[in-house]
Amino acid sequence: MITLKSKIDTINKVGKAIASRLNRINIKTIEDALWHLPFRYDDFSDLAKIEDLEIDQTTTIRGTIELLNSRRARHRKLSITEGLITDETGSLKAVWFNQPYITQTFKVGDQIFLSGKVSGDLLGRQMTNPSYEKVKINTLHTARLVPIYSSTDKITQKQLRFIIQSCLPALANLSDWLPDEVKEEYKLIDLNEALEQIHFPENKQSLAKAEERLQFDELFLLQLQQQLVKQSLTKNEANSIKFKKTKIQQFVKQLPFTLTNDQKRAAWEIIQNMEETSPMNRLLNGDVGSGKTIVALLAAYSVMLNKKQTALMAPTTILAQQHLQTIHKLLPVTDFRYCLLTNKGAIVYYQGNAEEIKKKDLIKQIKKGDIDLIVGTHALIQKDVEFKNLSLIIIDEQHRFGVEQRSELKNKSGNNETMPHFLSMTATPIPRTLALVLYGDLDISLIKAMPAGRIPIITKLVEAKNRAKAYDFINNQIAAGRQIFVICPLIDPSDKLGVKSVTEEYEKLDKEIFPHLKIDLLHGKLKPDEKNTVMTRFQNNETKILVATSVVEVGVDIPNATVMMIEGADRFGLAQLHQFRGRVGRDKHQSYCFLFTDNNSDHTTERLKELTTTTDGFKLAEADLKYRGSGDIYGTMQSGYNNQLILKSLANTILLKKTQDAVKNIIKADPELKHYPKLSKKIAKISNIHLE
Ligand code: ADP
Ligand code: MG
Repeated sequence: MITLKSKIDTINKVGKAIASRLNRINIKTIEDALWHLPFRYDDFSDLAKIEDLEIDQTTTIRGTIELLNSRRARHRKLSITEGLITDETGSLKAVWFNQPYITQTFKVGDQIFLSGKVSGDLLGRQMTNPSYEKVKINTLHTARLVPIYSSTDKITQKQLRFIIQSCLPALANLSDWLPDEVKEEYKLIDLNEALEQIHFPENKQSLAKAEERLQFDELFLLQLQQQLVKQSLTKNEANSIKFKKTKIQQFVKQLPFTLTNDQKRAAWEIIQNMEETSPMNRLLNGDVGSGKTIVALLAAYSVMLNKKQTALMAPTTILAQQHLQTIHKLLPVTDFRYCLLTNKGAIVYYQGNAEEIKKKDLIKQIKKGDIDLIVGTHALIQKDVEFKNLSLIIIDEQHRFGVEQRSELKNKSGNNETMPHFLSMTATPIPRTLALVLYGDLDISLIKAMPAGRIPIITKLVEAKNRAKAYDFINNQIAAGRQIFVICPLIDPSDKLGVKSVTEEYEKLDKEIFPHLKIDLLHGKLKPDEKNTVMTRFQNNETKILVATSVVEVGVDIPNATVMMIEGADRFGLAQLHQFRGRVGRDKHQSYCFLFTDNNSDHTTERLKELTTTTDGFKLAEADLKYRGSGDIYGTMQSGYNNQLILKSLANTILLKKTQDAVKNIIKADPELKHYPKLSKKIAKISNIHLE
């Protein structure tokens, strides 16, 4: 008897070797295998008659083997197996290369299915390397919607199908977490049936039902979890941060620019939110360059005026340093102390002066409450740092905070009774419908409009024949004193850090195209120190061109850079391309974004052209959904969930609405999920929230 928790090698024919290969694609148990969902299907469900076959058609036929033999090609290490298959309407040749064992698997007279693409010439039609299977009642591999899984080259699709098929009996013990009334109301099938049908659909209708059920689950659970988080947060106390009107107004007045209306509104939403006695949980969403930092700083200033501490966390040291510089520029000279704390060292600012101090001394000062605003990387909250009265945490470009991280922080905030307010900042424009799902536990402040006076960036999709012209243009820009970014995509999927493609591009530019210029290279394999050196050189205008991968944090401010050149642009989502583009046009110089691609399909051209017609990040994010689904932007942010399903379902607005309603009803009827133990257990499993 196999159960969901049984190890995968309890399956017949799965020995140690296959089990370890399966482990590599995260299949360790029967349950894992059942949740290894197909990412697409080959549709072989309609059997074709041989006489009707057309060239280039991909299909399945059923016939009898008339002839079958194998031979070696002359002068080559190649074996060729040829067969002649007939049905009642005609005959078809089948050819397999290097599969001589086929002659041992089948014999003349056998009934088989063949699936594949039809090719042909004057001599007749044939299928080359078709999939094949003996005619049985229940066929796994052909003559149906055939599931295609992500796999490694060490496990064939056929093996995976066989293994997953063998796991199906364990579905009998699967507990269905969705309440019956929800299933009834939205006409959803049972979970075990959905899983069986998603792997081996009887037909297209049953596949659609299975997909609907599984997508419903993902959206439903995700939103339910968020609502529960929201609910549990309101049970916590937070320091109420009083709005000190005069002081804040003075601060705003002395700024070197006027705040945009969106900035004012966002700041006001945050300040009001922090006056409450339950913790703020808010996302500040604004495009690159829209001016989020000053809004965050206003929030921090408000907290300082209340004699409480703020921590500002950036994902990298470079970004933390940049935040500190901005703060130093914008914050009026006061008695407040702020500091930079990174792995490299510690600096304290007081009354306009900077002073380097020992890290351990700074940590002492933070604990004593002498420092009002602490800027740094994630290390801020992980190491031996403790606070006196931490009341606001601002996180820049970081993924959401888990509930556990929050309770940890609560413990070191200096006051076990209260939880700090939270403000996340992201420059990824997220369409509203998606934001509601992905960030349902957060309130959202939006900055849509850019500060006045920005010169719009000129974006061009450059044809291959104009590449030399683009290089001339770059030469001229550099001669005029400007600097250039070149972004390269990851070409080889095994090369996760993109070292290969970016290195090749760097060599080409450095040796052949711009031998007279100083060029640097930035990629994910560099050590933090090396990255810093490269960035500093670029910042100081010592290097003219920076060739970088997308995995490298380019969220840095180089106002002197005016050209963003993107290779293999088709490999990026529009929102991501838009992010790259946001690295230029940050100063008074006219800036440019050049997109290059080898892919000249209409679809790609049309998609990339969107960038040349709009600079609205939100519009581009919506367009991304239209063209490629949301996969690229929202990557792997939802751990514990089946991202593949979520991403598919996010585009389904009807399903979104249904799941929102379902969540609302459940929460209203039973906020503690007392009557839904299975659901409660499932949620706890995903999120580690323990609902008491
Ligand atoms: P981001 O939203 O990408 O974090 P920043 O906060 O870094 O953007 O702001 C980008 C630049 O715009 C900074 O140099 C900042 O000083 C400037 N800035 C911010 N708000 C305004 C404004 N209202 N008017 C003019 N410049 C502004
Ligand atoms: Mg920023």
